[in-house]
This record gives sequence, structure tokens and C-alpha cells, in this order.
Amino acid sequence: MATASLIINSTQISQGAEAKVYKSYVHTSFDSDAKVPILLKHRFKKQYRHPSLDTSLTRARVAGEARALLRCLRSGVSVPGIRMVDATESVLGIEWIEGKSVRMLLGGGAEGEDEQVLDPDQSFDDTTDASGESVSHLDPLEEYQVTIDGVMGLIGSEIAKMHKADVIHGDLTTSNMIIRHPFAAKGPSHTKLVLIDFGLAYTSSLVEDKAVDLYVLERAFASTHPDSEPMFFAVLEAYKNGTGKDWTAVERRLEDVRLRGRKRSMVG
Ligand code: AMP
Repeated sequence: MATASLIINSTQISQGAEAKVYKSYVHTSFDSDAKVPILLKHRFKKQYRHPSLDTSLTRARVAGEARALLRCLRSGVSVPGIRMVDATESVLGIEWIEGKSVRMLLGGGAEGEDEQVLDPDQSFDDTTDASGESVSHLDPLEEYQVTIDGVMGLIGSEIAKMHKADVIHGDLTTSNMIIRHPFAAKGPSHTKLVLIDFGLAYTSSLVEDKAVDLYVLERAFASTHPDSEPMFFAVLEAYKNGTGKDWTAVERRLEDVRLRGRKRSMVG
């Protein structure tokens, strides 16, 4: 099916500054009637950019996101599989992950104002009614069969794998990590935590870039989750175990980055 008609037959689930996100259903194979959900990310035209510059930038971003995902997949990092890439139409199709973001799981509330989630039915995240009250009777951690410590461990070990593959995420937040719903996990070997949104990702082996990636996540934890310090400490413990000898250099650099961050916020 052509990409345009695929989008027409999809449900829009969110609208960000760069892209519209849809949930669509595609056949698993040519000879099967079964359909599986996929997520389509359409990077739309920016009116304020010169048209040819816009086209080449958008194409580069779609290809870049796909490339980062592929590199992660090859290194065993838990990320959504790639289902289609249409650079001409600026659409990336990826595996639909049925679950809840770590942010929601930790009670961090709704997303920032730069991204509007349109369809409350998009995932198992729909635990609120029309008045915004919680309608789930289970503690989300219980429902998802995870502990806070367990989730922090998964975050640290997935980021460690990603950094060992020299992929820098560029926007690590607890919204960009999904915990698979227990019903959607395919057996015990299936990693529960999936890193998403590689729109700002790039490859680099620099310690500085890895330290900044971790610092971005540390700031995101501090601004969305109360008492985040022990949580982030547990993330770093798992990261340390996953990176081994590379940890010392990243730890030292993370200290520098924090210092720079503090100085910058003092200057204003
Ligand atoms: P994004 O633009 O990548 O931040 O995604 C927009 C919305 O779609 C967010 O609410 C995400 O939680 C959700 N989302 C992103 N990727 C996936 C995925 N692969 N499966 C299910 N939901 C996703």
C-alpha cells in the first residue's frame, strides 16, 4: 500500500513540533489476513524553511533515525523494529510497543506541552477517565510486574549497550522509554524496557557525548520525578556494570558536565 493511503487509514496519536505520529495496521505477510499494529512517524513540511532545504533535511532525519535504530538492533539494544522507511514521503514505520512510558509508570504525569497526545487509546497508558481520575485499580508497578529498582536497572543496562554501540540518543527522558505490558511480552527473554524516539540520535564514540546523554537523563529525572536521586544512582550502577572499563572515563566526564551545568544555571 502506498504510504499516503496508509496514513489516511491510520489514527493520529500525537502531534509534536517536527512530526505527526499515527497508529496503523498492516498485514504480517502477503498471504495472511492477520494485521499487526505499527507506528508511523510522518515528518511534515516546515513552511518557514526553504523547500529544497526542508526536503533534504527531513529526508536526512528520517534516514538518520532509521540508521540509529538499525545500529541499536544489530547490537542487541532493546528498540522497536523497523517496519518501513519512505524517505521521499518522510515516513518511518516502526514496531508498535504495547505498554506504558516509564514517566507514566513512575507517576510523572502527562507529557510536556511541546507534544500533544491525541488518542488516549494509543496504548495501555489509558488509565484515566474523562475527568482525569485514575480508573486502574492496580498499582501500575504491580500491573506491569516490575519494581522501581528493576526498571532503573533496565534503563542503565540498555543505555550501556547503546553507548557501547556508539549510539547517542540525544533526548533521553523517562517519556522515551516504554515498559512492555506483561500481556505483550513474548516470553522471559523479551526485554521489558524499550528505548524509543531516536529522532535526535547520532553516532559518536566520544566520552563527552555519552556523558552529556546521561546528564540530559539526570536532568529529566530531576524535573519530572520527586526524590529522583536514588533512582538515577541505580541507573548509573547498572550503566557501570554494563560498560565495564569505559565507566571511569564517563563518570569523570559526567562530573565535569554537571559542574558546567551548575555554573550555567548560576550565570542564568
Ligand atoms: P514520539 O514522537 O516518538 O515521542 O512518540 C509520540 C507518542 O507515541 C508518545 O506518546 C510515545 O509514548 C508513543 N510511542 C512512540 N513510539 C512508540 C512505539 N514504538 N510503540 C508505541 N507507542 C509509541
